[in-house]
Amino acid sequence: MSRTQLWVNVYEVSQMFGGPEEGGWFFDVGIPAWSQQALCGCHELAEGHDDTCPIHHLIVEAQKFMEGLDEGWDERFISQDADEPEHRGERVYGNKELRVEKVTGHAYPDVWPHYE
Ligand SMILES: [Zn+2]
Repeated sequence: MSRTQLWVNVYEVSQMFGGPEEGGWFFDVGIPAWSQQALCGCHELAEGHDDTCPIHHLIVEAQKFMEGLDEGWDERFISQDADEPEHRGERVYGNKELRVEKVTGHAYPDVWPHYE
């Protein structure tokens, strides 16, 4: 039985205002809010993690965390460019996303998109 180290990551996903082009466009921004790792002992081809797998328990914990996640973090989404206050980010929705990944939680996107 192979064991794979996996992270269960919860992200707070929001939409940033990208720019006024084409009537305004938005892109998704994710910030890791919760991250735990464990060794998955599931069969490689198994769909999902059964309840003997530590990943399964982390997913349950992560879901509890997501239910209790506080709203109200708009101030984090202010534009990185202080000279362009009109590009202040707006939270269009406050989504949480749970991902099982082979890496620890990391903010995305790595490079902020620009209109071309
Ligand atoms: Zn597993």
